[in-house]
Order: sequence, then C-alpha cells, then structure tokens
Amino acid sequence: MNYIMTTSTSDISRKKSAELFEKAKAYFPGGVNSPVRAFKSVYGTPLFIERGDKAHLWDADGNEFIDYCCSWGPLILGHNNEEIREAVQAQLGKGLSFGAPTALENQLAELILNNNKKIEKIRFVSSGTEAVMSAIRLARGYTKRDKIVKFEGCYHGHSDSLLVKAGSGLVTFGETSSAGVPQAFADETIVIALNDKKALEQVFADFPGQIAAVIIEGVPANNGLLIQDKDYIHFLRDITKTNGSLLIFDEVITGFRLGFEGASKYYDIQPDILTYGKIIGGGMPVGAYGASHEIMGSISPDGAVYQAGTLSGNPVAMAAGIAALSILARPGFYEGLEKTTQAFVEELRAYIAEKNYELNISTIGSIFWFAFSSNANIQRADEIDPTSMEKYKVMHRELLNRGIYFGPSGYEVGFISAAHTEEDLKTTLTAIKAALDLVFQ
Ligand SMILES: *Cc1c(COP(=O)(O)O)cnc(C)c1O
Repeated sequence: MNYIMTTSTSDISRKKSAELFEKAKAYFPGGVNSPVRAFKSVYGTPLFIERGDKAHLWDADGNEFIDYCCSWGPLILGHNNEEIREAVQAQLGKGLSFGAPTALENQLAELILNNNKKIEKIRFVSSGTEAVMSAIRLARGYTKRDKIVKFEGCYHGHSDSLLVKAGSGLVTFGETSSAGVPQAFADETIVIALNDKKALEQVFADFPGQIAAVIIEGVPANNGLLIQDKDYIHFLRDITKTNGSLLIFDEVITGFRLGFEGASKYYDIQPDILTYGKIIGGGMPVGAYGASHEIMGSISPDGAVYQAGTLSGNPVAMAAGIAALSILARPGFYEGLEKTTQAFVEELRAYIAEKNYELNISTIGSIFWFAFSSNANIQRADEIDPTSMEKYKVMHRELLNRGIYFGPSGYEVGFISAAHTEEDLKTTLTAIKAALDLVFQ
C-alpha cells in the first residue's frame, strides 16, 4: 500500500479486504456497487465489512471499529438493533414480497403522518434517488412547467435531471456532471450557489413562469455540512410561492434525523413536496415522497403523473421502518441524541481552540462535519478548499488505525447514533485528538 510516512500508529492489516477487493474489481466497476465505497479519496483499499453490532463494525480481517458513517445515515439506532431485527425476522416467515397492498404500509404511513404535519399524503419507493426523481416529475406535472432550480453543493441522488453542476456565471443553465446525461436534460436544470438571495431573484427574473420547482437539501449535508441561515430559507420559501413554483425539501438525510419533521421544523417552513430515504427504512431500502392531498392528487392512479414500483412498500422493509420509527417517536429520543452530539463536538472544539488548529466543526442534530478551514461558518460549496482534503486523508487513516471508522471522504459528514455509548465516544475523542496532533504536527 502506498502510504505516506507520517503516522504515529502501525497500519491495521487489510490483507483479507485487499484480496476481496481484487476479486470485486473483476466483478464490479471499480470493485464496488456505489462509487464512494472505493476509498479513492483516502488511503488504502476499502474495508470489507463482515458484521455490525450497536456502534461497532468488524471487517474481514477481524479489525473492530466504532462507526460514524452509519451506512451513510440510515443507522440512527446503530447496527443490529434488537427491535428492528425481531420485526424483520417476524415478517420473513410470512413472505418477502407480494406486489399487493399490506397493512404494514398503512402502519408505517400512520406513524409518519401522525408525527409529521408537513405532509398529508405519502408514497413509498425504494431509494432516495427514486423519491427525488418522482418528486421532480410531480412538480413538473402539477405546475405544467419544465425547469427546475438546484444548488451547487446539494446532492439529490443520481437521476438525470439532477446530475448537473453550475456553469459559469451567477445564473446559467447547468452542465451535466456525468457522461450519459443529455445536454437537453441539463438545459432544464438551473444551478445556483447556496446562500445567495441575488441569484434566486435573478433566476425568477430570467425565467418567468417557467420554473416548476426549486429543490434544496433540508440541510445540505452531502458536500460538507452547509447550514443555511433561517432568513435565507424563508426568503427561498417566499420567492417560490410568489412565482408559483414549488419548493421541494430533500430530507433524505435530515428527515427523521433532526426529528420527524426534519429540517422543515428546524426552519419552521412548509415546503410543497418533501422527500425521504435513509432512516425511514430502518436500514432496509425505502424512500418516500409526500405533500398535501391536493399536490399528491396528481400522482397515478388518482392523477396524470405516472410513478410505480414492483417492490415499493416491500413488507420486510416496511417492518424494519415501523420498528425503527416507533423507537424514534418515543419522547426525548432526539433531545438525548442531540445533547450527546453537542457534548462530543464541544469537547473537540475546546481541544481545537486550545491547540489553535485550523479546523472548525459544524454540527446540527446528530450530524457533524470537520471543516479544515479557518472559516467557522461555511455555507457555500465554493467556500470549501479542496486542498484541505489532504488533512482529512491523514486523519482518516490515523483514525482507522485507532479503531474509528469515518466516511472515506472529507466531504462526508459523520453521524452519531443512539447506540454510541459514553465509552465509545470517550475512546473516539481520545483518538481524534491524537489524529489531529498528527495532522497538524
Ligand atoms: C442519499 C441522498 C439521496 C439519494 O438517496 P439514495 O438512497 O442513495 O438513492 C438523495 N438526496 C439526499 C439529500 C441524500 O442524502
């Protein structure tokens, strides 16, 4: 392995993982079924995971880690949660899929709709990508307009309309960010910077009566953690309403992470369409989108916007979602998790201040992000310095060696789950401090 020389620890064995990765490269593009798993932005080969329990992971070489990736967010209750496991096991004996309605779908919908007043009707799909893709089609069908506006630094899954990045200039048509996306699709997506009221005003001035929807992540958390000002989000809500455009809040990460009403509650706004994924399925593949009765009335078979799925509302996945959300709905769940996260981040901030390291940690709910920058309030994608990612790489390797598993890219946020014990967090804090001493030595 081509490691740099600065390390205070010896590297963990990745022998079995490396062998498995060699095989996988023959089977899958890049050896993986989702690109970021390939560890391209950090040192070494990806770790092949064998099992997880509570906040801990074990890889094929028998290394144990405390996990802060949490399957990229879904595992707010940690790995192998007993109540989720038992609910899934109970369903397994009854069949895996029927392609017909089940009471389980009603149950999960009731749990959500009773605790989330931002939506009146919901449709289950199988991933976040599918949820957002469907929400975009719904917005276009409902408004009878074609153009959508997205923000640089927000990720909404890999559907064609959203694999678009900003061109040059304040307000421009997007450029495709993936081969295989027709320019004609990108021409319908306008990409602007976050936290920029002028750009929003300009968009609506340039394309009057043409914008179906503006889509934003509840709290942008896929390209750093870019927490937007309340004032800006309210401006966004108002300007979309004034212009007859819908506001889509993509809450695939923030939904059920910042509470049942996600970032919509945090910002105290009513978006028009909301999308969910990740936590909603308790670790199984579930996504969803929801809106008012009126807007959802456009979806087939009630309305003219087609959307379907062979495995949508899958009974095993519904059982996992019901078990997970039942736990999250218990009084005090989110308050407890947020307090734990605050204490964790505060201790790190104190250490960083004491050592005067050029690093800031942003946090909201149980999400946190290391910004290797002197800017304590990064709100736009272009405020992130790509060269700072070298520091994350060094930290990531050092943390793996010390038994701490973070997402394999400095643009990824970390998640604290309800399964992280005080001891887990204490061990982690010690490891992070040592890793930072190395990064800034
Ligand atoms: C993860 C994510 C998606 C895509 O969800 P998948 O289940 O990976 O398809 C969409 N939007 C946001 C905000 C996400 O974080």
